[in-house]
Amino acid sequence: TPVKRATHVVLLASPGAGHILPVAELARRIVAHGDGDEFTATLVTFTNFSSSEHSSTLASLPPSVSTAVLPEVPLDDLPSNARVETRIFTVVNRALPHLRDLLLRSPSGVAVFVADLLSPAALKVAVELGVPGYLFCTTNLMALSCMLHVPELDRTTTCEFRDLREPVQLPGCVPLRGADLLDPLQDRSDPAYQLMVEFGNNHRLAHGFIVNTFDAMEHQTLAAFKDLSDKGVYPPAFAVGPFVRPCSAGVENAKHGCLRWLDEQPDVSVLYVCLGSGGTLSTEQTAELAAGLETSGQRFLWVVRFPSDKDCSATYFGTAGNGDDNPVNYLPDGFIERTKGVGLCVPLWAPQVEILSHRAVGGFVSHCGWNSTLEAVAAGVPMLAWPLYAEQRMNAVMLSERAGMALRPSTRDSGVVVPREEIAAVTRELVAGEKGAAAREKARELREAAAKAWAPDDGPSRRAFDDVVGMWKARSARARP
Ligand code: UDP
Repeated sequence: TPVKRATHVVLLASPGAGHILPVAELARRIVAHGDGDEFTATLVTFTNFSSSEHSSTLASLPPSVSTAVLPEVPLDDLPSNARVETRIFTVVNRALPHLRDLLLRSPSGVAVFVADLLSPAALKVAVELGVPGYLFCTTNLMALSCMLHVPELDRTTTCEFRDLREPVQLPGCVPLRGADLLDPLQDRSDPAYQLMVEFGNNHRLAHGFIVNTFDAMEHQTLAAFKDLSDKGVYPPAFAVGPFVRPCSAGVENAKHGCLRWLDEQPDVSVLYVCLGSGGTLSTEQTAELAAGLETSGQRFLWVVRFPSDKDCSATYFGTAGNGDDNPVNYLPDGFIERTKGVGLCVPLWAPQVEILSHRAVGGFVSHCGWNSTLEAVAAGVPMLAWPLYAEQRMNAVMLSERAGMALRPSTRDSGVVVPREEIAAVTRELVAGEKGAAAREKARELREAAAKAWAPDDGPSRRAFDDVVGMWKARSARARP
């Protein structure tokens, strides 16, 4: 009997949990496809900005997914105030020669290359080597549409986007104020702006987009995008989501203390506060948030970060706080004692998927990162949108105005501190009020739709996934002698 040769897919994950976790999930689903021996995968990560949380993700991959790490590249020439996007795009660009070597040396060849959203520059290497390159969009289709539209927005406007008189209407999307567009577009004189234009052009090198979204979440946007790709304007998009990593089947004694604390709380009563892997508040906003939570009387579980007055993404690079210090020490005096029993503060990192799916959680204060959003959807938990950077303000608009699963504080311009009274009122509303109940209903409807998206046979996301990997397999079979 002839030996069945597996199709080898190489996936590149950009720095940050918001990329590595979903790319790892994509790799896992690719190798599990069909009989489970049709694909092998290599997950490639960067040394720059890697952290210990990532190593446990990589260690838990199935044996048919290998890992490789691109060597560290120097960044000391970047100014200390370089934006998060500039740092990541610079790492990606400088690591391209290492990526080329790795692809050329791969003993099983490379049938398909997949880069995530932030590494479209890597598609140039795939083009050069004649390997089909795909882009895995770890956020929604609206954000991808915006990125693809940036070169044209750049050509057709001259003012800062926040000064545009009319909202920006992306195909099939909720209208967006210029000020809510991607954060790195908000200052034309910043180097990140030009990188975003280049970024939009590089995206078009993809043979297709694999998007971590699903039809019920972005029906109109998907329809409009399909129209454009049928006309040849854009490569096709495959909505394969939502990818949410499974709850780790934690043995009881290994269970995180905060989950044991949640076990003692009533159903749907606790507000979970966490701003993703990078979200960071100023000293003043941290104090207002603490005071607001305390005044609300609401039960809460807060993943506390070091404050930074310079950068709302400081945690991403570990530039906030230092060494052995504990961020809880930066909370207002006596806060921990006064809220004892009602609230729990966890420093730096908590098991989010497990927390959101706990019966005690009734609301989620979130920066609206897309993975966090999908995790809230999978758990049917309504959100209080607290966007900070990247595409988060756009997500907040979509979640509150279209999906209906998020409330927003009335103070929502970036850089303006949300006062404690506002925080107390809106968090109470989210967990116990009528608007919160309506948002919870919407979140639960989306949870049902998300579960159906991967239903065997007729789940639309499963079908889209089977279409794209089926195409890869057929192509690599044809390419073999
Ligand atoms: N996350 C977590 N614990 C934390 C903070 C974040 O497990 O304390 C995970 C979260 O579940 C999500 C990812 O980190 O899967 C963050 O991705 P997201 O897209 O929400 O935001 P980003 O960090 O990319 O801004």
